[in-house]
Amino acid sequence: MERHEVVVVGAGLAGQRAALAAVQAGRDVALLSKLHPLRSHSGAAQGGINAAVGAEDSVETHIFDTVKGSDYLGDQDAIEFFCREAGPTVVEMEHFGTIFSRADDGSLARRPFGGAHFPRTIYAADRTGLALLQALWERLGSETLTLYEEWDVTRLIVRDGRVQGLVALDRASGEFHEVAARAVVLATGPAGRVYAKTTNAHSCTGDGIAVAYDAGALLKDMEFVQFHPTALLESSILITEGARGEGGLLKNASGERFMVRYAPHVQELASRDVVSRAIVTEVREGRGFQGPFGGYVHLELMHLGKERVESRLTEICDYARRFAGIDPVTEPIPVYPAQHYMMGGIGTDLHGATNVRGLFAAGEAACVSIHGANRLGGNSLLETLVFGKQAGVAAAAYAAGAPAPELHSTDLDEATAPLRAWSSRSEGEDPSTLRTEMQRTMEECVGIYRDEASLMEGIRRIRALRQRAERIRVVDRSGVYNLNLTDALETTHMLELAEVIVVGAYARTESRGAHARTDYPKRDDARWMRHTLARRTPEGPALDYAPVAFTRFEPTERVY
Ligand SMILES: Cc1cc2nc3c(=O)[nH]c(=O)nc-3n(C[C@H](O)[C@H](O)[C@H](O)COP(=O)(O)OP(=O)(O)OC[C@H]3O[C@@H](n4cnc5c(N)ncnc54)[C@H](O)[C@@H]3O)c2cc1C
Repeated sequence: MERHEVVVVGAGLAGQRAALAAVQAGRDVALLSKLHPLRSHSGAAQGGINAAVGAEDSVETHIFDTVKGSDYLGDQDAIEFFCREAGPTVVEMEHFGTIFSRADDGSLARRPFGGAHFPRTIYAADRTGLALLQALWERLGSETLTLYEEWDVTRLIVRDGRVQGLVALDRASGEFHEVAARAVVLATGPAGRVYAKTTNAHSCTGDGIAVAYDAGALLKDMEFVQFHPTALLESSILITEGARGEGGLLKNASGERFMVRYAPHVQELASRDVVSRAIVTEVREGRGFQGPFGGYVHLELMHLGKERVESRLTEICDYARRFAGIDPVTEPIPVYPAQHYMMGGIGTDLHGATNVRGLFAAGEAACVSIHGANRLGGNSLLETLVFGKQAGVAAAAYAAGAPAPELHSTDLDEATAPLRAWSSRSEGEDPSTLRTEMQRTMEECVGIYRDEASLMEGIRRIRALRQRAERIRVVDRSGVYNLNLTDALETTHMLELAEVIVVGAYARTESRGAHARTDYPKRDDARWMRHTLARRTPEGPALDYAPVAFTRFEPTERVY
């Protein structure tokens, strides 16, 4: 059995930043990840990271934009803290060696992003996430910590209301291990693969959120799912908001710049929920293009000129050329919205603490909440670093005073018994079939627009899939890189989260941010200005609600 004071699960930006903070606080730290750290989804982030460093901009405006962007569901105390930390965080990352793009005068270059009053998004061309991840990984290299690479956490061990450690599968050997820990930080990232069309990597299966939920942690605001307006048709590869930030235009099949009708003041740079709904409406009402991969609209960059497009949007050019056979310098890019980000996650306070003692969470797997009902582009990379650090500091402080973890000889057996049953069946359900059906269900029933009938249907279908999942069969019996087994694990995790999303969405009878109910088209502050909290029970998620923290911004109607 392995033993550490603090175990950080997930080695994306949030996990690495948490690990760095915990090591610096003097604790014995392990970093455990199912992927090599540099393959984490953080490395796919394109557009940039927000910090109000421009002369015209201010922390106050960043706070207001984030509160408004959240459709007033974000906790204002958390948002204030978050925006104040933005400048120092970006400077720290630069000192760690991140090479950001520069303006002509040598200052940090900034691009406009949706929902922001001023250009506030600092970037490294269109590979900001990779630039940050590499710099942080190099910085972490000069510290002493243990790395468990290609280990999948499958269960948390909680006893006496306190985390004692976890169980993980070593992919390379197929062996399960117990890891004793005084504190665990979950930084396991996104869950976008719950949907069929997503910009998220294949690894983004929400494992940590499901594992925490199983262990009694409360999940917050899971019904708020962000769809990015511009994903490349067919593959759903992200075309960064930076493309519109650089001046890209959205046009329908008649060549009309339709965003002028939906957001007269800022057009293409309205927040993501607004632009996504506009595109879907254009296509549904017959003003989009139609092709073998469904409806779409055009994103035009041609007028920006070859030099600008190729230097500022290098990766985008590459993606469009390789995956759609389109050259953005001379042709419009076919785009349609796709799932992109989960505003919800494991509920935490400002320091990453959850309702389970010794369990902390940060990054996209967590919900503090600063994004509320809709996240602004560029705020998520910042969130991973700001709250990753907070969670690392808090976990280290907790571990310093916590009793030694208590693991029982039966823990490993209990945690792995259901998985062994999957491999011993001679017949049963194929996990990949369940996954595909879940993804289709989420697309059809809990997409950009929802209503009572679609959500009821969603609940029925997801529950039926969960029942079938009790009879999952893993055909591959080998130990080494058993992808059939990891696929089954990830599928059961996602099915659990799918149920929380659809049940939360059904209960919330209003429209707010990314949650758009056609049967309840208005925001209803009197009843719904509150966070959803989901607790796992054998009968399904039990919902409760918690107040939103207000400091100074009274809710008003959100207009862009
Ligand atoms: C294509 C794309 C572009 C984006 N662009 C931007 C942008 O420009 N600006 C912005 O602010 N945000 C952007 N975002 C959002 C942002 O990148 C993510 O929210 C953020 O990087 C998530 O970081 P993380 O550390 O929480 O998770 P990740 O970087 O996804 O890391 C998760 C880690 O958890 C590990 N893990 C997962 N499950 C397990 C398990 N069971 N056991 C062990 N380890 C596990 C993985 O191996 C990985 O190391 C983008 C997102 C996408 C998908």
